[in-house]
Amino acid sequence: MDQDSSSRRGSITSPAKARRRGILLLFLLPMVLVSMLGGLVATWSLYSLREENRDRHRHEREDLRLLIDSSQLGEEMAVVHQLVAHSLQGAAAGELDEAALYLLHSEIVEMLAALEVRTRDLSQQPHVLEAGDDNVRLMVEDFDNYRNFVVMATDIAAIDPLTATGYIDKAHKHFVDFVKRRQTISARISDAALAHVDQGALSLAETIALVLVISGVVCVLMLSLAVASGRFLSLRLTAIADALNLMAAQTGMPPSLPEMETMQRRGFGEFKEMAAAVLAFRTAIQERQQAEEKSITDELTGLRNRRFLMTRFREEFERTRRGGSVLGFLMIDLDHFKNINDTCGHPFGDLVLQRVARALQGMLREYDVAGRYGGEEFAVVATGSSDSDLVALAERIRQAIEELEIREGSVSVRVTISVGIAVSAFGDTQETLLKRADTALYQAKEDGRNRTILL
Ligand code: GH3
Ligand code: MG
Ligand code: MG
Repeated sequence: MDQDSSSRRGSITSPAKARRRGILLLFLLPMVLVSMLGGLVATWSLYSLREENRDRHRHEREDLRLLIDSSQLGEEMAVVHQLVAHSLQGAAAGELDEAALYLLHSEIVEMLAALEVRTRDLSQQPHVLEAGDDNVRLMVEDFDNYRNFVVMATDIAAIDPLTATGYIDKAHKHFVDFVKRRQTISARISDAALAHVDQGALSLAETIALVLVISGVVCVLMLSLAVASGRFLSLRLTAIADALNLMAAQTGMPPSLPEMETMQRRGFGEFKEMAAAVLAFRTAIQERQQAEEKSITDELTGLRNRRFLMTRFREEFERTRRGGSVLGFLMIDLDHFKNINDTCGHPFGDLVLQRVARALQGMLREYDVAGRYGGEEFAVVATGSSDSDLVALAERIRQAIEELEIREGSVSVRVTISVGIAVSAFGDTQETLLKRADTALYQAKEDGRNRTILL
């Protein structure tokens, strides 16, 4: 494993860990947050509804209890009042003796004492105070007056029935007032109870509305989160797909992928991993292309090497034969190159080869391919050209090289080339075509060099 590929692999750091973090950040965390929010809202909703209900029930029960108490108080007062009337009637008619009247008096005092406790108790209830205004105070006063007159009347009923009757008349007036005030208070409590029920229904409706609004907001939040998360995913996946498409479409060197580089640097989880994989893929393509390029390039001159040139020659030969067109082959050899090596040194000879190669490359047309054929020999595979076109091309190359001055330091040389040209004809094979170009070159040398010969 070379260093590059190991560093490439090193850029995809611990995928399992990155995946765990990706799942955690992308999915679990938002889900947990939204679930927690949902749970909180649900708990809060249930709690609010329960509290609302509990308050409503408490109010209703309280109102009902007060109404019952008030009504019982009225009934028991009526019972006492009847007993008082019975006592006085009995006294006036002489039907009840002193002992019986005393017993009745004691019983009435006792009942009034109990009723007093209940009256005061009722009068101090917040709901009663709230609903009763002055009526509560006046009701208590009426009760006290009533009780006083009743106690006095029943106390003297045996000995002075006339005075007792006078007291009872006054007690009766207070009894009537007491009953009226109690009824007013009861009516007010009933109204308050109805208002409480209405209020309860209203606040329940408000609570339900609030719960619905908040649930709606949470739903919108969850939806937005889902959309945002989907968008987040789709943007990154699209960027990865675009990068892969770009690499697939690119014929030359792999493209630069800044988005993938940013994603690899700043991203997390699977996306970081995918970006690293895309970049590693690009590096692999790049390395393969570089290796391929190297395998078809001549190291010294940068032209295509003989292997590539001959492969192209064979392909083009077959293609032009099938298509009915012609293929030209130019064989180029530097004249007296050995002399340059001998006089200027081998490194300078290399420099000459490089300059000649560059000049040659500069003279080619779009579909011509030039390569280094051998030591100081070059060749050109030229398609779709007539004989005259090829001769013209060869001449242009020859003249360009003839005019080339190759200089390094104090050393300056000029070189010439001889060119053998062959154009495919009916019945030619690859070998005969190559042979003819070789023969043409040989003839150019024989004829004095620095010339082009077409055969
Ligand atoms: P001719 O005109 O007949 O072609 O003469 P020539 O001297 O060019 O022919 P010859 O084949 O005798 O010499 C070719 C020389 O090219 C021999 C060799 O030293 C030189 N040569 C071949 N490859 C390289 C190379 O890569 N670098 C250098 N500097 N010289 C090379
Ligand atoms: Mg040669
Ligand atoms: Mg030569």
